[in-house]
Amino acid sequence: MDFKFAPAPESADIADIKATYGLFIDGKFVKATGGKTFTTYNPANSKHLAKIADASAADTVKALKAAQSAGQGVWKKMSGAERGKYLFRIARMIQERARELAVAESLDGGKPIRESRDFDVPMAAAHFFYYAGWADKLEYAFPGANPAPLGVVAQIVPWNFPLLMAAWKIAPALACGNTVVLKPAEQTSLTALKLAEIIQDCDLPPGVVNVVTGGPEVGKSLVNSDIPAKIAFTGSTEVGKYIQKQVAGTDKHLTLELGGKAAHIVLEDAALNQAVEGVVNGIFFNQGHVCCAGSRLLLQESIADGFIEKLKKRMRTLVVGDPLDKNTDIGAINNKEQFKRIQHFINSGKEEGLTVFQCPTKLPDNGYFIAPTLLLNAAQSSRVVQEEIFGPVLSIQTFRTVDEAIEKANNVSYGLSAGVWSEKGSRIFNITRQLNAGVVWANTYNKFDPASPFGGYKESGFGREGGVHGLHAYLKINI
Ligand code: NAD
Repeated sequence: MDFKFAPAPESADIADIKATYGLFIDGKFVKATGGKTFTTYNPANSKHLAKIADASAADTVKALKAAQSAGQGVWKKMSGAERGKYLFRIARMIQERARELAVAESLDGGKPIRESRDFDVPMAAAHFFYYAGWADKLEYAFPGANPAPLGVVAQIVPWNFPLLMAAWKIAPALACGNTVVLKPAEQTSLTALKLAEIIQDCDLPPGVVNVVTGGPEVGKSLVNSDIPAKIAFTGSTEVGKYIQKQVAGTDKHLTLELGGKAAHIVLEDAALNQAVEGVVNGIFFNQGHVCCAGSRLLLQESIADGFIEKLKKRMRTLVVGDPLDKNTDIGAINNKEQFKRIQHFINSGKEEGLTVFQCPTKLPDNGYFIAPTLLLNAAQSSRVVQEEIFGPVLSIQTFRTVDEAIEKANNVSYGLSAGVWSEKGSRIFNITRQLNAGVVWANTYNKFDPASPFGGYKESGFGREGGVHGLHAYLKINI
């Protein structure tokens, strides 16, 4: 039989990116006061994608006031069951527009389409589904504690998982009866604006969710306003510290999801081939732009040489290139500043005398691409062991005893996540309970579920997102 396939539409058509995007305030898309805009680019080829409204301080006040009156007027009074229906509707519309959202995410952020399609978008929908289910069960989650919404919540997110971070933040806040002003990162605002379109199409009461776009100044004006009852921030530790200082002495609630420098520990009795896959996924997923990336590999001495050979062999098979090609494993570095920062760290490793291994891959001529990189023989004091690189760069250290592994794993200022590989459950539990990390994976890595809490210790922040813990962060509770 003669099958005829329609030619695939241009990817940009699938993403349906408009020439300009406004701010989403009180249920409508509006221009920024003064008409300022900024441009968003495709990091894989530096091509202009769209112009986006750059909010002024007056615009953020308008958005906060819209959230305030929507909260008092309608959202807070609505039953949990009714709120839940809106969240279910948003979840289903994310699924309906999944292809468009995935392509837009990869065009704007540089991540492989396989990841946007199979991870970011379905997980964003899953968060709305999950919290939709909680909206009418808050009394059961916190029995006898009279859970009540906080009020207006200002939410600020980074560029690495734009749609997913927006969903992580908006879904629990709405389920708990709060109203929201979200500020996406200036590098990747497109899918948050598409989420605003979905929210508009779902007939969510105007003002319940507002999206203001722009750079750090927009974030600052949200943080420094008297209106929000809570600031929920995901981003760098540096900005997190700034926000904590601004909020100190006020009665604002605050959660901070900040940077990380996770230890990925492989013991000599681990299933080594599986561990290699885990390590590759741990550091090269989303080009290593992952706060919980397994960016420090700790190998038991007896297996170190053999493991590194297996790892290099596997790395040679990784495809670096066009984010929209479904065979691509590693896409483009998200933006120029990050590209320079990663190169700076690789050079710093070289200057410290570390052995650098980079896959001999042909990188695309345009755009920001970095070959997957290992920094071998790293000392605990090395900058590349202590500081977050946020790219496809893995430092490697060895250890002799389990105590040494734990000591090295904990000896950084971060405490977001960690991973352990061993065939023996008792060894895993012995180690995991001694690690100062909010999330610890055993014999796997980078696995997420809306029902499980996520968050850090030390300079990785405080507060939890996900699961019942994620509700707690958006409620007044009398316990
Ligand atoms: P960033 O801190 O520079 O920016 C994050 C957001 O804050 C952006 O929207 C930005 O415009 C805004 N912002 C910047 N300065 C501000 C200020 N002074 N006041 C208010 N808002 C301000 O971070 P980034 O470079 O976009 O993202 C990378 C960082 O995010 C990494 O450190 C990464 O580890 C972290 N991150 C953490 C998690 C987590 O859950 N722990 C998740 C993803 C990313």
